[in-house]
Amino acid sequence: MDTILDAHCHLADSRLYPDLDGALARAAAAAVGTIVAVGAIETIETDRLTVEIAERHPRIFAAVGVHPHNAADCDEARIAALAALAGSAKVVAIGETGLDFHYMHSPADAQERAFRRHLELARALDRPVMIHCRNAERRLYEIVRETGLPPAGGMIHCFTGDAGAARDFVELGFYVSFSGILTFKRADDLRAAAKVVPDDRLLVETDAPYLAPEPYRGKPNEPAYVRRTFETMAALRGADPPALAAHICANAARLFRLPTA
Ligand SMILES: [Zn+2]
Repeated sequence: MDTILDAHCHLADSRLYPDLDGALARAAAAAVGTIVAVGAIETIETDRLTVEIAERHPRIFAAVGVHPHNAADCDEARIAALAALAGSAKVVAIGETGLDFHYMHSPADAQERAFRRHLELARALDRPVMIHCRNAERRLYEIVRETGLPPAGGMIHCFTGDAGAARDFVELGFYVSFSGILTFKRADDLRAAAKVVPDDRLLVETDAPYLAPEPYRGKPNEPAYVRRTFETMAALRGADPPALAAHICANAARLFRLPTA
C-alpha cells in the first residue's frame, strides 16, 4: 500500500480523542503515515491538546487557530495565546480560519476580521495558513488578492467550491485539499473541481470526526478513512496511485515543511 497522509483532522475532538490510540493504529494499518491535526474548534484548550498530541507522536503535526464559527471570540488575547502555542516546532500551520457563509455561526464582519488577523499572524510567524471556506469562495478570493497570501503559503481545507473556484485558488498560490465529500453520490461538481487542480497542489484529508467518506458516511470519521478519498481521487483523475501518493506526500512536506519521514 502506498503511504499517504491526512492533511486535516481534529484528533482532540471528544469523538476521536478517547480512542486515539485505536484510531492511530488503524491509520498506520491503512498506511496513513502523516497526520496534520487541527485545533481551532471552540476554545484554546482544543489547540493546547492538539499541540500536546503532536508533541507525543513523531508523525503528527498541529495547526492552531480560531474556526470561523468561533470568530466572534477571536480577540487579541486569543491571538497571543495562539502565537505562544506556535512556539512549538510541531505547529506547522495557522488555522483553520476563513469564512463560512453557510452556517453563519459568527457574523460575517467578525469572520472577516478574524480571517485577516490570522493572515497577519501566519505572515508574522512564517507559517502557512489553513483555510476553511464554505459558500464564501468569492469573498475569500477577494480578501487574499488584496492582502496577498502569507509567504509560507496556504491550503484550502475540505474544498467544496466548483472548478472555477479551484482554479482561482490555485492561481493565488494555494494548495487545495479534498475530503470524503469527494466520494458522495451527488458531488459531481466537486469531482470536476478535483480534476483541475495540478498534481503539485493537491492534498487529501478526512476532516475527522466529520464527513466520513462512503461507505462509512454518517459514522464518525477517522484518519484511516482518507484511503477511500485517495482511491476516489486517483480513479477520477485517471492517476497511477503510487505516483499520486508520492505527489500528495511531497506537497504536504513542501507546504508544511515537514521533516523527512
Ligand atoms: Zn476542520
